Amino acid sequence: MTEQNKAPEVRLSPDRTRVALRFEGREYWTAQGNGSFEALMSDEDVADWTPLVPDDGQREHVIDVREDGWTIKHPMSCRSDLFACEVNRAAGQQIKAMPAPAGKYECGLDGAGVFSIGKAVTS
Ligand SMILES: [Zn+2]
Repeated sequence: MTEQNKAPEVRLSPDRTRVALRFEGREYWTAQGNGSFEALMSDEDVADWTPLVPDDGQREHVIDVREDGWTIKHPMSCRSDLFACEVNRAAGQQIKAMPAPAGKYECGLDGAGVFSIGKAVTS
């Protein structure tokens, strides 16, 4: 990933009406509705603002299988409450060994709530 398309850090104000952005190594700044610059914000100013995870476009659960274990990456819709994620819970209960050859795969639950692995993901 190049510097240019690295996503900024984003924070949402406590009243949820404004966002502050910070690009790599810069100060936070807020934008008006039309996207134009509004004000610089210090770290203290945004300390009680809620960090938002940038949307990386992932829409499915992805399991990263390695020789020594596996990790599940969640889509945006899941990330605010991972403890409630059914896929996470099913994977934890049902995966007993290396579930597939090392690599990344789409994954999810079938109709019966059984953890299932789908097609390989190349990126
Ligand atoms: Zn999830």
